[in-house]
Amino acid sequence: MGLHLYDTRRRRVRPFEPLRPGHVGVYVCGPTVQSPPHVGHVRTALPFDLLRRWLVQSGHEVTLVQNVTDIDDKIIINADRDGTSVWELATRQTRAFDDAYRTIGILPPTIQPRATGHIPEMIALISALIDGGYAYAGGGSVWFRVGFFAGYGALSHQRPDAMLPSAESEPGKADPRDFALWKAARPGEPFWSSPWGDGRPGWHLECSAMAGKYLGPVFDIHGGGLDLVFPHHENERAQTVCAAGGAAAGETGEMARYWMHVGLLTTGGTKMSKSLGNSVLVADALDAVRPQVLRYHLLSAHYRSTLEYTPEALGESAAAHDRVETFVRNALDILGGPGEAAALAADDGASPAGGARGRAARGGPGSEAVGGAAADAEAGLTPQQAWADFAAAMDDDLAVGRALAAIFGAVGQGNQVLSKAHSRKLAGWVNVTRRMLGVLGLDPHEQWPSAGAELRPALDGVMQIALDLRSAARARRDYAEADSIRSRLAAAGLIVEDTPEGQRWHLA
Ligand SMILES: [Zn+2]
Repeated sequence: MGLHLYDTRRRRVRPFEPLRPGHVGVYVCGPTVQSPPHVGHVRTALPFDLLRRWLVQSGHEVTLVQNVTDIDDKIIINADRDGTSVWELATRQTRAFDDAYRTIGILPPTIQPRATGHIPEMIALISALIDGGYAYAGGGSVWFRVGFFAGYGALSHQRPDAMLPSAESEPGKADPRDFALWKAARPGEPFWSSPWGDGRPGWHLECSAMAGKYLGPVFDIHGGGLDLVFPHHENERAQTVCAAGGAAAGETGEMARYWMHVGLLTTGGTKMSKSLGNSVLVADALDAVRPQVLRYHLLSAHYRSTLEYTPEALGESAAAHDRVETFVRNALDILGGPGEAAALAADDGASPAGGARGRAARGGPGSEAVGGAAADAEAGLTPQQAWADFAAAMDDDLAVGRALAAIFGAVGQGNQVLSKAHSRKLAGWVNVTRRMLGVLGLDPHEQWPSAGAELRPALDGVMQIALDLRSAARARRDYAEADSIRSRLAAAGLIVEDTPEGQRWHLA
């Protein structure tokens, strides 16, 4: 069926076609780096990581731009409160966000522009808007004339004349709905020079300038949290469209061809927010669960749904994730590793490689049944079908619930043949399970190796030497030496077992 995405602007799921075949440009509104990241920030960023991985899996090249808002009222207030500079605070919190994203397995953006590095682009954009009659200077600031853009309100589905003022009356502002493109400098605050006096950029303007610079005036997908639809994205769209084409293009053109918004993360039914005092910092969440479990949990609800964050739900996700992880580790242990599993499955044609796709999707995002594997236990389900179900779900506006059901179906089938005697079937199931998990950024073997796993090949080599020495000792009937080698290894936490197939070892 090909990828379909829900577009906020058109309020429906529609087929995704990139402007340039094979290449997708995505702009995601990044954090305002005023304080450490909470779980809601990570939840908002994750669907775009998922989208990117799926697009790449489907053969696209993706340019993902995620900005950093490093100048803002709250940054100035917090820096003042902490007795530090805005530059130091912004640098520290940018690093904290980068760390949180990396810890949770979010791939770094292709381009990560900072607002303060794009002041000349912003000044050029404001000039273009003034020249087109869409903006005016007043009171040392520059304002966007909302009433001059007939398309205003089309993204958030509001009538311009019914909208409430964006702020109380401010000096130089002609219409209460108008918003600031450039804010006049206030004493003691950072500022830049401009043709309209010293000041700093408005928040909405930053994103228009940076998206335009790196993706052009029209690009494929613009994303962010649901709370950004209005006013932030409405204003970005107004600025970009008007600056690009004047009135005619402005009223019919678009900044992004698809607008993707992520549902809120709530605690106690209220949006998780620093200012409301109900936020759970990523660092604190990771005291309770491993990063891959938090990732699994935040991904497991559809990206457009509201997700209530509770310890109970997190615990259920941990149990579900453990089931998948345990299967993959057990299966690879039995088969002797991923290379062996790939070779075995290729033998009987059960490998899903090649990406069988095109199975019709069933239902919408609402018809999800996480872990509902019972129905998949019927005879005849193959790894190829599991992959086709997974692909159809991902193509249907990233219906992760159904994608997870395909994974649990494969895990259920794999667990039924979890022995050396069924190694080919087992290989087929573990390979497809890992391929599906890889798209979600959750493959336990490759993306989340257990601690010390990178040392495993070296350890294997050293252990082989030790086991060979022990075999040689036994061959010459020096049992005292053979026992000594074994007990010295045991003291080092390396347990050797004698089995009908020879010596095996594992960590204590
Ligand atoms: Zn933005």
